[in-house]
Parts: sequence; structure tokens; C-alpha cells
Amino acid sequence: MKRDYYEVLGVAKSASNDEIKTNYRKLALKYHPDKNPGNKEAEEKFKEINEAYEVISDAQKKQQYDAFGHDAMGGGGNPFGGRQGGYQYASGDSSNMGDIFSDIFGDIFGGQGGRRGGRTSSQRRRGEDLRYDVDISYLEAMNGAEISIDMPKKEVCLSCRATGSKDGSAPKQCPQCKGGGQVRYSQGFFSFSQECPQCHGKGTVISNPCPECRGEGAVKKRKVVKVRVPAGVDEGTSLKISGSGNAGANGAPAGDLYVVVHMKSASGFRRDGDNLYTEVSISFSQAAMGVEYDVPVLQGSIKVKIPAGTQPGTTLRAREQGFPKLGRKNRGDLFVKVNVSVPKSMNDAQKRALFEYAKSMDEVPQDSKYQSDNFFKKIFR
Ligand SMILES: [Zn+2]
Ligand SMILES: [Zn+2]
Repeated sequence: MKRDYYEVLGVAKSASNDEIKTNYRKLALKYHPDKNPGNKEAEEKFKEINEAYEVISDAQKKQQYDAFGHDAMGGGGNPFGGRQGGYQYASGDSSNMGDIFSDIFGDIFGGQGGRRGGRTSSQRRRGEDLRYDVDISYLEAMNGAEISIDMPKKEVCLSCRATGSKDGSAPKQCPQCKGGGQVRYSQGFFSFSQECPQCHGKGTVISNPCPECRGEGAVKKRKVVKVRVPAGVDEGTSLKISGSGNAGANGAPAGDLYVVVHMKSASGFRRDGDNLYTEVSISFSQAAMGVEYDVPVLQGSIKVKIPAGTQPGTTLRAREQGFPKLGRKNRGDLFVKVNVSVPKSMNDAQKRALFEYAKSMDEVPQDSKYQSDNFFKKIFR
């Protein structure tokens, strides 16, 4: 009795392609014959996993399978014409692992000694990823920005068109490792492989190297990279610019560029997450009677209604006036701390008015000095 393919891969019927791929990868790594030499059970499992993945990862086959189960696969023996078991796998010899495998596993089984089927590592050696740190202002983080980064990086060599060869001749197979990039040494009972010293693992040698790039196919130069910084970035946000890392050797794909954001400080403002904090100072009478205040923000100002009777140190919130939330539609809030200032000097009219106010509040000091006629004559003429 054949097991359900979804069960084999440990995923739900509704699983996304990524989920399916991830689970397949995990299982295939676990049961891979290289990891389980001589283990028949693991080998069977491995075949089963691959068979299931070949069906589930293919939209058309998946649809048939979903509708008719294993019956759609011709009784389970010969799922989709030709390939027995749906997956080419010869026991004890993994050299004919198809592209499905190398596509998914990339460098896991590549690299040291794992390269199969004469595929040389130079053809697959991707350029390095790069990191660049940028300082972004509050305003740029608020609105988003396009910035230009001027940085040294490896670029495809134009004089040899990435071939690494001066006269345009194709690289030849390395005579020492026969293209494998690895050479095998024996020591007593042990044998081990190491990177080929002649071609440094590339598997190929260039008889007449390009003088510009010394055969690498890539040269280091300054390059301006334009980066769109989305609104809402914050300290530590990392932006991935695919393919803008170092060029790969001899025409291999470029690595990625990671732009890491740092926030410049802004005087008068503080950021915490998506919220923006600032302070204003209003007068005693504005605090008492309320005021519609133009609060300066990063760009221009916004009107904030400060209600009558606002106490010093009160913090008011203006909703959705903070930073945009990265990749979302809504924003953080603006918090305005209200300070109240006391006049340091007043003219006589103001003094008189305030005195009247104080009298109405029964606040006129009982002190004789204040009650004396002389005092009133003095300040109120
Ligand atoms: Zn060159
Ligand atoms: Zn070699």
C-alpha cells in the first residue's frame, strides 16, 4: 500500500510551494544515501520522498493526484511515463541525480568533494554577498527615499566579457583534477580530497589569462548602486538588493547586496518604533483656555488641538502622524508633550489684568506690602 504523498512529505494538502520545498529538503537531507551509507530503509524512504516531491511540486501532476490519488499515477508503478518510480536514482551510485536535486540543494551537496557528474565548481561559484551601511534621516524614513551608494565591488570584466581569457579562448579542463576541482590523496587506509592546487577548485585553467582581471572574469571597481529605501525603515532594517553583490567568477551569478539602515538623530524629535515624539511650549493662558497649536513636524507642521485646562507635562497623541509601518498601510502616532511657560516679564497692563484675575481667584496676597496703597500706585499708576 502506497503512502499518501502529502503524508510522505509531512505537509497539508493546502501547503504552499515554499512549504513543500522546505519539507522535502529537510527530509531528503535526512535520508540522503550519502548520510546513510548501506541503510536500505533510508534508501527506500529517500526514493519515496523523491517520488512524492516530483508529483506534489508539479502543478499538473499535483492536480491529477489530488483528484484521483495514486490511481492517477497508473497504479503506483509508473507515475508519469518513462521514469520508474518517478525519480531517477540508482542505488549505490548517486552520480545521476537529476537537476531537480542540484536546483534545490545548491551548495549543500556541492562544495567540498560533493560535486557530481563532472560539473565544475567554477561554473556555479556565485559572487560574494556584500553589506553596506547607510545613515538615513527621519524625513527619509518617513517618506521613503532613493539613495545612491558609491562602493567598490567586483564587476564583470568587460575586456574579456567575464571569460577570464585574453584571446577569448574558452577555459580548458584542468589537467590535474580533470575538471573536478578536487584531487584525491591517499594516506594509509584513508583517502581524502582537497581543492585542486592548480585550478583552485575551479576545474578549469586559462592558458592566456586576461590581464585586466587576471583570469577571474571580474574586476574590482567603484560602482554607484541606486537603492530605493521604502518608507518606514528603522535602525537595523536590512534591505536586500538581489544581484548587486560581487560579480561571480567567470560569469557566475552575482551575490546580493545587503543595505543596512542606521537612523540619524533629529534635533527636537525622538523615534520609538513607529511613533514620533516631540515637545511644544505654550503659555499659561493658552494652557488654561485651550489652543489649536501648529506643532512643527519633520516637514512643515500639523495642527494639534490642545484642550482648555491642559496641565504642564501632559502628552497628547495625534493618531497616524508617526512613521509608516514598513510594508503596511497604517502608521505610528505622534506624541506631543506640552510644556507650559510662565512669563518672565509683563507690562503694566498685563500685570493689572493678572492681578484682577488673581483677585477673582482669591489669590491676592494678604501681605501688607501688596495691600498698601503705595504698592498699587506704584504698579498701576
Ligand atoms: Zn578579464
Ligand atoms: Zn584542477
